[in-house]
Amino acid sequence: MTDPVRAPWEAPMRLALEEAARAPLTGDVPVGAVVLAEDGAVLATGHNERELTGDPTGHAEVLALRRAAAALGSWRLTGCTLVVTLEPCTMCAGALVLSRVDRVVYGARDEKAGAAGSLWDVVRDRRLNHRPEVIHGVLEAECARQLTAFFRGARGGAAETTGPQTPDPQAPGSQAPGPRTPDPQTPGSQAPGSETSGSQASGEGLGNGLPGR
Ligand SMILES: [Zn+2]
Repeated sequence: MTDPVRAPWEAPMRLALEEAARAPLTGDVPVGAVVLAEDGAVLATGHNERELTGDPTGHAEVLALRRAAAALGSWRLTGCTLVVTLEPCTMCAGALVLSRVDRVVYGARDEKAGAAGSLWDVVRDRRLNHRPEVIHGVLEAECARQLTAFFRGARGGAAETTGPQTPDPQAPGSQAPGPRTPDPQTPGSQAPGSETSGSQASGEGLGNGLPGR
């Protein structure tokens, strides 16, 4: 059964998924975004480049918005739609409001940091005079799967080496689960079965089983 609200956005979401797939090449979390013009033409794309560029604002949405504005020759993206694989954070939600896009479409929810309906709803805050329409859950399972696969790969990679080891603080997801000698210096390390709190769950995570970006 097709969903009349979400079905029209599946094709651009697939583009966003393809864009997101480029991020892990530079160690970046796979989040991809596409900006569409009013007629559906692709104006710009972007994927997470925070690790690549060392820029804390290098999120897929911000990059795609900048490129779309450059393509149009105006910061005002009225009529445009931004399609992104993961629910925007507060920064990106703010940028979306400022860009005056008509619509924000996203795939996976980010229960721990999402600002378009999960933890906050910056995009539809009634105190703001511009409120883009929000459509969520487009290819949600695929978008979520891409993220979980990335984090599982990062954790799995760390777990493949044998023997007790100190987690590498530089590596994403380096706090590999499983029996391992706990490192007292590392928050979240704990003996298997111990009641110690403090945990790797507290920092990263989307709350729906997905780690955060
Ligand atoms: Zn963001």
